Amino acid sequence: MARKLPEYIAVSPISLSCPLCKVKPGKACDLFAGEVEIVHVERIAAATAMDVAAKKARNKAAHR
Ligand SMILES: [Zn+2]
Repeated sequence: MARKLPEYIAVSPISLSCPLCKVKPGKACDLFAGEVEIVHVERIAAATAMDVAAKKARNKAAHR
C-alpha cells in the first residue's frame, strides 16, 4: 500500500462521479499500464468532504 489515504472513508470515491474527469460512478478515473485503477485525488477529497459533513451533522444531532 504505497498510496496514502485516510484510514476510513464511509463514502466510497468510486460511488461518486469524478469532479475532475467526469467519469461515471462505479468506474475508475483511469487505468495505469492497463491494469492499475487510478482515482483522482479530487474525487477522494469530494468523498472525504461528504463523509466529514455527514459526521458533523451526526455530532450536532447527538449534542442536542
Ligand atoms: Zn477522475
